[in-house]
Amino acid sequence: MKSAEIDLLIKILSSLQGIGPRSANRIILQLIQKKESLLIPLAKILNELSEKVYKCNICGNYDTKDLCYICVNQNRDRNILCVVEQVADLWAMERGNLFNGLYHVLGGTLNAIKGYSPEKLNIEKLYKRIKADNINEVILATSVTTMGQATAHYLTDTIKKMNVKVTRLARGLPAGGELDYIDDATLGQALRERTIIYEKEKNK
Ligand SMILES: [Zn+2]
Repeated sequence: MKSAEIDLLIKILSSLQGIGPRSANRIILQLIQKKESLLIPLAKILNELSEKVYKCNICGNYDTKDLCYICVNQNRDRNILCVVEQVADLWAMERGNLFNGLYHVLGGTLNAIKGYSPEKLNIEKLYKRIKADNINEVILATSVTTMGQATAHYLTDTIKKMNVKVTRLARGLPAGGELDYIDDATLGQALRERTIIYEKEKNK
C-alpha cells in the first residue's frame, strides 16, 4: 500500500488533462527521487502561487498581480486587441512571441446548450474597453468551431456599430483546433494574414 499522501498526489495529477495514472506515477517517483532539486522547490512555488495567483482585472489572464504583465506593459501596441476564448490561447500566442498588442479573454464561447449566454462571458468588459481605450482594431481569435464562429459573428455585429475595425485569423487553421494545439509558425501566419471583416468608416 502506498502512503495516503502519495496516493492523493497520484489522484490529483491523474485528474489533469493529458496525464494518466502511469505518467502520474512516473512524475511523482522522479519528484521523490530528486527531493532537493525538484520536490522541495516545487512544493514551495506551488504554495506561493496558490496564495497569490489572480485573474487580471482587465483582460482575464492569470498573473501574480491583479493587473497582468501584458496589460501594464506600455511598450505594447495598446490600440489593438486580440480576443481569445481561453487563457490557454493567450499563452499560446505569447509562447511564440506572435503578437505585440493586448488581449481579452472571453472565458469560453456562446453555447445555448451549455447555457453560455453573452452575460456569462467576459463580453461587457470587452465593449467597455473598446470604447474607453481608443482601440482601433479588434482581432477575433476564437476557434474555428461552430461555437467559436458563432461567437465571432455575435461580437462583430456589436463592434461594427462602434465603428472599429474587426479582423479574424486567416483561414487555414485546422477546424476545431484550439490555438494551443497549433504550431507557432501556422498561428503566426494566420495572424499576419488575418482577414478584414469590418473596416472602419472614416465619416462615422
Ligand atoms: Zn491583463
